[in-house]
Amino acid sequence: MKSDVERGILLVVSSPSGAGKTTLCHRLLGEFPRLSFSVSYTTRPKRPNEREGTDYHFVDDQRFSEMVGAGAFAEWARVHGHRYGTARSTIDENLAAGRDILFDIDWQGGTALKTKYADDTVMVFVLPPTLEELASRLRRRGTDAPDVVERRLAKAKEELGHFGEYDFLLPNVELEAAYNNLRAIYLAAHLTHKRQAFRAQRLLEEVRAEGEPR
Ligand code: 5GP
Repeated sequence: MKSDVERGILLVVSSPSGAGKTTLCHRLLGEFPRLSFSVSYTTRPKRPNEREGTDYHFVDDQRFSEMVGAGAFAEWARVHGHRYGTARSTIDENLAAGRDILFDIDWQGGTALKTKYADDTVMVFVLPPTLEELASRLRRRGTDAPDVVERRLAKAKEELGHFGEYDFLLPNVELEAAYNNLRAIYLAAHLTHKRQAFRAQRLLEEVRAEGEPR
């Protein structure tokens, strides 16, 4: 791996809908200016509280297909009957600018990124405290029709089965504790052996140089 600590981290945060991932992610983005959010493309209709270009780039099926055809996506997947994808350019531009990137994408997207950016991808799965709590959070949210909520709940149960793909499992029982753990994961991700080995190498070179005759 190229020894460059400035290269960005790809932080994937997934969870079944309603586990509290969005709140955690917004807080992390607010605290760390070096971290930017990857705005995905989706064919899903916009919810009333969402903004084009901030939450998603909302596109129709034809446009999405064109982008797939042009190889514009680093990954894309079908979730809840709609297509969602991460543009290659989003990743390239942020990494080139030395930024870390936060992805709110599912396990399919996360594993695809992990395959392409193996040394730089950190995958976190947010776990709801209980299934009952998950269901009530989804219903309270009130942005989706009841049949959509039920579909999301069924999908959530299925998504839980993919916990094995993740590096970290983050239980969200109490928001403050969960947030502290998420920020600890993010900070520690910069300090892995692979990312910091060049510093130790540099010190060893100095040691060697000291030993050489003048
Ligand atoms: P929602 O419709 O609730 O915003 O998102 C539904 C699911 O799609 C979530 O699990 C979210 O993580 C996932 N998702 C959002 N954007 C992407 C993407 O670009 N790629 C993939 N693979 N999943 C995504």
